[in-house]
Amino acid sequence: MAKHQFQTEIGQLLKLMTHSLYSNKEIFIRELVSNSSDALDKFNYLSLTDDTFKEEDWSGKISIKLDKEDNSITIGDNGLGMNENDLIDHLGTIAKSGTKAFMENLTGDAKKDSHLIGQFGVGFYSVFMVAEQVDVISKKAGEEQGYMFSTDGTGEYEVKSVTKDEHGTVIYIKLKEDEKEFLDKWRTEEIVKKYSNHIAYPIMLNYTKDETTGEGDDAVTKSVTKSEQINEATALWTLSKSELKKEDYNEFYKTISHGDDEPLVYLHNRVEGAQEFSTLFYIPKVAPMDMYRADYQPGVKLYVKRVFITDDEKELLPSYLRFVKGIIDSEDLPLNISREILQENRVLANIKQNSVKKILTAIKKLKGEEAETFASQYNRVIKEGIYTDHINKETLLEIVRYKSSTEKGLISFDDYISRGDGEKKEIYYITGEDEKVLRNSPLLEAYKKASVEVLIMDDKEVDGIVSPMIGSYKEWSLKDITTIDAPDSKTKEEKEEISKEFKTLTDKIKEILGEEVKEVKTSTRLTSSPSCVIKDSSDPMAGMAAMFAQMGQEMPEVPLILEINPEHEMIKKLDGLSDKNLFADISWILLDSAKLSEGLEPKDKGAFAKRIAELATKAI
Ligand code: ADP
Repeated sequence: MAKHQFQTEIGQLLKLMTHSLYSNKEIFIRELVSNSSDALDKFNYLSLTDDTFKEEDWSGKISIKLDKEDNSITIGDNGLGMNENDLIDHLGTIAKSGTKAFMENLTGDAKKDSHLIGQFGVGFYSVFMVAEQVDVISKKAGEEQGYMFSTDGTGEYEVKSVTKDEHGTVIYIKLKEDEKEFLDKWRTEEIVKKYSNHIAYPIMLNYTKDETTGEGDDAVTKSVTKSEQINEATALWTLSKSELKKEDYNEFYKTISHGDDEPLVYLHNRVEGAQEFSTLFYIPKVAPMDMYRADYQPGVKLYVKRVFITDDEKELLPSYLRFVKGIIDSEDLPLNISREILQENRVLANIKQNSVKKILTAIKKLKGEEAETFASQYNRVIKEGIYTDHINKETLLEIVRYKSSTEKGLISFDDYISRGDGEKKEIYYITGEDEKVLRNSPLLEAYKKASVEVLIMDDKEVDGIVSPMIGSYKEWSLKDITTIDAPDSKTKEEKEEISKEFKTLTDKIKEILGEEVKEVKTSTRLTSSPSCVIKDSSDPMAGMAAMFAQMGQEMPEVPLILEINPEHEMIKKLDGLSDKNLFADISWILLDSAKLSEGLEPKDKGAFAKRIAELATKAI
């Protein structure tokens, strides 16, 4: 017998399980049944592909035994099983980096947190919400020796050899004194129906019941053992659409999502003909917690002729659709397909293409509140799609949403076009980090004055890279307003006239600011602000910046052009100012405050503050 210490993270996790998540304890049944189902899937696959197991007369099942006298529940399966190393590796340590993320993401709301248990692959430990003692007795398929892993969930566990006839795993759970509700047949049946009704193997409930035979004085009451199947055990996606109702799909979703929410979208398809396959996809209402982690768990499982193949293949859908959950079941792939082949397989490539089209069409059809929910959760990954999926770019552009300078909420390109200038066919946008800064940007003034709508793209990391490469949508070209001339009513001649008139002033300011700006010129885009900065679009660095950002490198600085507003009081007075020091201070303030308005930092913040203080003192 060997004693072991749980990995530190597990120790923490166990504490959490016992003390924080206790208000949704029932999910331990869901988690253990789901683990059993996975183990049955794995053995099922072996029994069909591995000669060692082909002879075995096997049919997978899960059994749950309730023992009122002993105050225990036993959940067992005849699946793949675990040997000594597996028990230590899988139950004594957490392989995935998920645990830490799991704990960081805990909200304190037991209902929400119980979703996370499934998402982060720490389901087994949920048993400690109800257990005083747990024994996992397991034998791995193809091996002789069985092992027992025992723990009371307080930091240590033991592993010893035992004899076990059949391969598979039996988990004996000694319940805590006040957890007797789970010994009630109806209660357990209700939980299994709620979360695990469509587990593809029969779940047998074994319990005892008092039965009376005879009457009057001859009546004898005996405790009888009963066994009944309590789930439907159908692979839902293999049924025809006409047999299924929304409730059926929603119920199945609970089985695969480890939760009890309804999905935002479900879509079920069967394709027949040269190639045959079924797909059943769901879009969750709330984006998966690990959506932005590199080690995210893919949501789609691959089956071949109803046999589970893998749930760990990120290539089944393009990565920007990693929030989609569900099943792909192919009739044409060989069962023993290897990973390497999987990725280059023509059959699978075809299924993938078809699936993406179907999913995007379903998303496109969303209306009203559902469309809003979708955008609030997935807009960012859709932008990823625009960047990476050239085949479906047009559809993705129909789906993506942006904030607008004139409208509330999020709008589509089509919304913009319906209000835009049909002759010019231009879609204006501005990108940056902070919505408020963007909305108050001096660069927007001319657009506001001319009542021209501008898209406010405040997800700089993504928009800064994706938007410049969109190019155009339905013949409308996208224009970054920081790099183009603003709309105004002045003619070219008039502009030249103004520029000439202020030439001495702009030259003087440029002399003071030196290399800090590439050029100083008069602006026609401003109304209330005295100055603004724009990027020099002709500079090669402007185009390179996005590329650098994509490679995760610091963006090189794009030279700025300072524009001053010739109609502003301050500029008019500055033109005639003779105090040289004051002129210099104001020149710097024009630049630094324009930078601040665009979310950029003044070169010397201390000097900026000092200049403002001096000016304020003079004004008083
Ligand atoms: P997850 O199932 O998400 O990986 P768990 O903590 O529930 O996380 O289980 C950890 C691992 O233990 C599983 O991945 C599996 O390898 C193993 N395991 C758990 N239950 C069983 C079982 N009934 N049969 C075989 N292996 C199991």
